[in-house]
Amino acid sequence: MEKISDKMEKVVSLCKRRGFVFQGSEIYGGLAGVFDFGPMGVELLNNLKRAWWKANVYDKENYYGLDSGMFKHPKVWEASGHTSGFSDPLAECRECNTRIRVDKELDALGVSADEKMSETEINRLFDEYREKISCPKCGQKNFTSAHAFNLLVKSNLGDFTSEGNDPVYLPGEACQGIYLNYKNILNSMSPKLPFGTAQIGKAFRNEISPRNFLFRTREIEQADTQYFVKPNENKEAYEKIKQDRFNWYLSLGIKEENLRFKQHENLVFYASDAWDIEYNYPWGFDELEGVHDRTDYDLTQHMKFSGTDLSYTDGETGEKYIPWILETSVGLGRMFLAVMCDAYHEEEMDGSKRTVLKLHPDLAPYRVAVSPLLRNKPQLVEKAREVFVSLKKEFGNVAWDDNGNVGKRYRRQDEIGTPHCVVIDFDTLGEEKPELKDTVTVRDRDTGEQERVPVEKLVELFEVRCR
Ligand code: ATP
Repeated sequence: MEKISDKMEKVVSLCKRRGFVFQGSEIYGGLAGVFDFGPMGVELLNNLKRAWWKANVYDKENYYGLDSGMFKHPKVWEASGHTSGFSDPLAECRECNTRIRVDKELDALGVSADEKMSETEINRLFDEYREKISCPKCGQKNFTSAHAFNLLVKSNLGDFTSEGNDPVYLPGEACQGIYLNYKNILNSMSPKLPFGTAQIGKAFRNEISPRNFLFRTREIEQADTQYFVKPNENKEAYEKIKQDRFNWYLSLGIKEENLRFKQHENLVFYASDAWDIEYNYPWGFDELEGVHDRTDYDLTQHMKFSGTDLSYTDGETGEKYIPWILETSVGLGRMFLAVMCDAYHEEEMDGSKRTVLKLHPDLAPYRVAVSPLLRNKPQLVEKAREVFVSLKKEFGNVAWDDNGNVGKRYRRQDEIGTPHCVVIDFDTLGEEKPELKDTVTVRDRDTGEQERVPVEKLVELFEVRCR
């Protein structure tokens, strides 16, 4: 069996080699916890966002989209509890100064450290298991005790004195913008409860040890939905949302055996229930998306801190209450990594080894690649360009590939997940077999099978096979 780290290394290496993901600021030696999406990566990322938006806005009748500003009033992060409680327990290696997150180290030993634990409590647990925790860099076991490290990232926006007394934070999570605009949505769109709001936005966290590539980064893009329901009418809707989110990953082609639900053992005091959807990453099952039943905590907090009435009045019964919230939240980086790991395959085809990304056709960076059989035959190139230009006009994400022989082109397109390759050959010109004039070879990425298709049918074919 393949070693865990091998698969991860192969995926990371493919991401770099084929233009999916680069280390942030690489030419300066890199910036930990930040990644850049390259020409192939941005296509996959945009396709993921589009698929998510379709499922959470267009396919629903009572969900509204939102794009809120990143910076928010400093009080927002007080109301949300981030300034006081958004911290991870940090310890430092006395030998080499490497920092570790004590709760995650304990987690790896099967010891669950409750998020609400005080510093004293977490240190008691840390002391108990110290002997089993080694520094990931130097291997020593000589750590300082743990202290709470706040993850919020400060900015000096609007601070012209540079004193930094009342910092405007970068968002610790994107979803706060939804709570802040809940009233605006009520007033402008007049929705009846229950209704949802969907948003994709950036968040920043001073993660102590960013790791596992896109899994734990300092700059994060989150896709969130918040569903506002009548108090105590949460259970059924929560179950449906959980199932919908799980099924959505299946609809992206992720294998069912690589997904599972995990219930939170230690609920935060206001939550009614909380589950994670976990993906089987190369290092094992880990959190992909959180689905949380949050009661009225968020709106109540913002009502208290802002002094603005955030209650909802039922138009028919006149009842007034603070809605409860069911939240879904997923990091696009974690989604991207899960999709890449799931799609990555090495296999034999036609007697040779190939690496293929079996991406869902809707997610693949290129919908189709077009090639002339030979690049030094002007009639073939001219005809191929004609087909390429017309497909590109229709779909946009179409590749032109005339490098090397056709077999090599297929392998190159397999590696980036292009579902179909179109080849223009002498039969397309109809010189020897007039009945094949204006037909092309269409080759399928997964089976390697080839079919002969009239040029005029190509748009229709690729419309049906990729949406
Ligand atoms: P973890 O326990 O792994 O630190 P979390 O429970 O703090 O994650 P949430 O605050 O619930 O995560 O954030 C919602 C989602 O945002 C997560 O399910 C995950 O997909 C994503 N996310 C959170 N932190 C990061 C990060 N540092 N890098 C990438 N994605 C992240």
